[in-house]
Amino acid sequence: MNKNSSNTMALAPNTSNKRETVCIFGTGDFGRALGHKMIQSGYPVVYGSRSTQISNLIPKDAEVLGHAEAAQKAAIIIIAIQRQHYNFLTPLSEVLRGKVLVDISNNLKLNQYPESNAEHLAQLLPGSKVVKAFNTVSAWALQSGTLDASRQVFVCGDDVEAKQMVMNIVRALGLTPLDKGSLLAAQEIENYPLQLFPMWKFPIFLSLGLTAFFFLYCVVLDIIYTYIYEKKDFSFFIAITIPNRVCPVMALILLALVYLPGIFAAIIQLYRGTKYRRFPDWLDKWMLGRKQLGLIALAFASLHAVFTLVTPLRAFASWRTGKGIISQALNNKTEPLNHTNAWLSDSYLALGILGFFLFVLLGITSLPSVSNNVNWREFRFVQSKLGYLALILCTAHTLVYGGKWFLSPSAYKWYLPNIYILSLIVPCAVLVVKFVLIFPCIDKRLTQIRQGWERNPKFSK
Ligand code: NAP
Repeated sequence: MNKNSSNTMALAPNTSNKRETVCIFGTGDFGRALGHKMIQSGYPVVYGSRSTQISNLIPKDAEVLGHAEAAQKAAIIIIAIQRQHYNFLTPLSEVLRGKVLVDISNNLKLNQYPESNAEHLAQLLPGSKVVKAFNTVSAWALQSGTLDASRQVFVCGDDVEAKQMVMNIVRALGLTPLDKGSLLAAQEIENYPLQLFPMWKFPIFLSLGLTAFFFLYCVVLDIIYTYIYEKKDFSFFIAITIPNRVCPVMALILLALVYLPGIFAAIIQLYRGTKYRRFPDWLDKWMLGRKQLGLIALAFASLHAVFTLVTPLRAFASWRTGKGIISQALNNKTEPLNHTNAWLSDSYLALGILGFFLFVLLGITSLPSVSNNVNWREFRFVQSKLGYLALILCTAHTLVYGGKWFLSPSAYKWYLPNIYILSLIVPCAVLVVKFVLIFPCIDKRLTQIRQGWERNPKFSK
């Protein structure tokens, strides 16, 4: 074989890579954006439209024909038309028989119709193979290429081959198909774009509620109480002092709340003696929101770090330092360094820094791009073992800082405990119960249950 022949082979068109023609019904925003992307990816595109006039908005290399004529040119037809107009497809049922119809439609409200749009389409055209796809990708994202937030394309359908054909197109467009099963899943997929941060609702409402409670608690004890009993106006505490008390408290409590459902789950499994019974709904919901709770906790911890770093810049801080120096000068006495205090302050800072470092590590490993690159054991090691270590360090940080107030009567203004005492209740409870659960006799039984052992097996072997 001569040298030229290999060049000729390399330059010859690879016929096996030739893409099949795709038909798109509807030359609206989505139809045009998808057509554009498909042409870029090498698919010949033919539009089926009510008007065959070419407008300059339509991708330049696409053909525009009547619906029936366009459908005959392709095995896959993408229906880029709103559901309320689907009736016009019924007279085309013969042309569409055996073809793959891709339903990309969305609704305006959750569960707007008794059946999903894709199932409705399948009922209208029983001779066609309906596949649901692309509804979670926006026309704007397709056109502008900013697909970072929505690369996933949920696909479902009853015909496995048809679904595979659609998933191949999805991949060719540089997107990631996610098989959601049969067409029954279409209702759920159609609801996705209508949901606003569904996994974040519970963690956000819980955090807002607790933040409001602790903020008011501090306002009452630090501002109102001081004003009434000491006639001092500390209302400026609202800007930095109180937020810098609420943020660490929230970070610590939310971090503990990430691990508390796991403790409840372990107790329930030990009590029932089996893992084969569902957890109560509230616990399931709580477990699903753990990552979000952890990320909100990290946000509070980061705010605490920033608030603490700006403390020396505050007028109140320099006034207090100046006051100390002047009082020593007036008394002509230098106060010796209190070594206990120096140890306490350095220890609580060191514990806080280490705790924050682990907190950030937990946050980073919960990012999909990172968690996808570690195996299940590594992920569990970081999220469980290092997570508990972060909880221990942060609890110790608070204990060392606030411990001295626990016994002091001044900590109980209006018989209410100091906010740091409140913040330690949940973390300490979690750590104590966890400590009991890792006792070898209990841990062994829990491990057996998690490996399938049952105290009263339903089906005896
Ligand atoms: P659109 O701009 O309003 O376009 C809809 C197209 O449907 C029209 O351009 C028209 O095409 C055709 N049409 C309108 N009335 C019709 C009728 N009575 N009979 C037959 N065809 C008719 O809407 P779109 O934004 O492209 O959305 C199309 C579908 O994609 C919707 O189901 C939507 O939920 C879904 N979707 C849209 C987006 C998005 O970002 N826009 C994202 C995901 C999913 P002709 O004039 O060519 O006939």
